[in-house]
Amino acid sequence: MKVVIVGFGLGGLGSARHIADQAPDAKVTIVGDERPYVRHKLRLVTQGMNLWVNTKHIESKGVEIILDRVTRVRREQKEVVLASGQTLQYDYLVLATGSNPTIPSKLKGGEKCAVFRKLEDVHKLIDEKPNEVAIIGASFVALHVADASRAIGAKPKVIVRSRLIRRSLEPELSAKLEKFLAEKGVEFIHGKPKEVYDGKLELEDGSEVPSEMTFMATGVSPEIALAKEAGLELMNEWVIKTDRQGRTSDSNIFAVGDNATVIDTLINKPIYMGIGTAASIMSLNVAKALTGFKASYKVPRYQRDVFFGGIHIASAGLTSIEASKEGFEADRVYMSGDEWGDHAYIVYDKKTKRVIGFSSISKKDIGWKSIGVLMAMIRRWPLAKLGFEI
Ligand SMILES: Cc1cc2nc3c(=O)[nH]c(=O)nc-3n(C[C@H](O)[C@H](O)[C@H](O)COP(=O)(O)OP(=O)(O)OC[C@H]3O[C@@H](n4cnc5c(N)ncnc54)[C@H](O)[C@@H]3O)c2cc1C
Repeated sequence: MKVVIVGFGLGGLGSARHIADQAPDAKVTIVGDERPYVRHKLRLVTQGMNLWVNTKHIESKGVEIILDRVTRVRREQKEVVLASGQTLQYDYLVLATGSNPTIPSKLKGGEKCAVFRKLEDVHKLIDEKPNEVAIIGASFVALHVADASRAIGAKPKVIVRSRLIRRSLEPELSAKLEKFLAEKGVEFIHGKPKEVYDGKLELEDGSEVPSEMTFMATGVSPEIALAKEAGLELMNEWVIKTDRQGRTSDSNIFAVGDNATVIDTLINKPIYMGIGTAASIMSLNVAKALTGFKASYKVPRYQRDVFFGGIHIASAGLTSIEASKEGFEADRVYMSGDEWGDHAYIVYDKKTKRVIGFSSISKKDIGWKSIGVLMAMIRRWPLAKLGFEI
């Protein structure tokens, strides 16, 4: 069995490793336009951290690595074409092409913005050494840019339209996080950007934010060029649609990671997650599918992070707001105390009493506790099983 993987990020590397381990007879080739590194730790390059991932394991298992770009998928011939002109035949193709930062087309001067996705992006920040950095967006990535900016001695100013990390945190936690980060030297400006100029950013209310470097961190768009050209089914013309195992509308082609949908454990329908934890499980599912396994591991939304060396964030499943949008009768339990850290909320469905979400911020890491709630969610446990009476 010949397997070609396109993209050498977390999803591609994970697929190569799992397929090589679980289907040792497969001839695996991975084609990537950059060598793998730990993308979610980009900000730590400002502190001298080396992010390159060692590929000895997959190489020792016979995986061939080609540093090039795939320019075309020819489904009828079951081959991919590389920028060098070389073609590679496959029995199975895994698209792990990731995503790219989105620059809203309506924002004037948006093309002047820097982004934070690749190694060269963090090196640009280090090399330009700005004194003031404006960051448009309130996502995890926006806060990573703020963290990296502060690490190089710049003043980060985060332009927030709604609230911090709103898809992962309960509203009260967004407010507490903002207060904590403000104490650490991040300036938060609430408003909507209107135009980006050299040296400043103008907001819709007419105010101006001086900025030597302006970053856009409002989200990503899946890299679907190859899939689109090859005629694979997309969801909303935006992301590659896959089944539980990662199979696309062509049963010989899989898609994993930031370019594809996953079936959400809680709402049981395809959604876009775009997070590394999902990419890792998706790559395991592809390897399992190629070895004839019919089932798949569940892919829950789970994120954990620590900002400014002192504030730990964990989130799993849905916030109460997202849960209500999905039709749950969402309610919450608030916890504060040793094992739950400073502030934590569990979200549950009032009808079934099932645990459907969790978010916390704390000065101490409550990682294992958050994984406990995650497991409860995956196992469809009622809240009572976590020791809460409601
Ligand atoms: C700053 C930052 C912080 C993050 N923090 C977290 C976090 O705390 N937790 C979390 O779960 N997730 C986090 N993420 C998201 C996480 O990094 C991504 O979900 C993950 O990297 C997705 O892996 P991927 O393999 O799908 O895509 P990528 O890592 O983007 O890899 C795709 C690779 O494919 C290459 N490629 C694309 N097209 C082609 C082609 N045609 N030919 C050859 N190569 C191609 C790309 O250049 C890239 O190298 C963070 C992301 C960033 C940027």
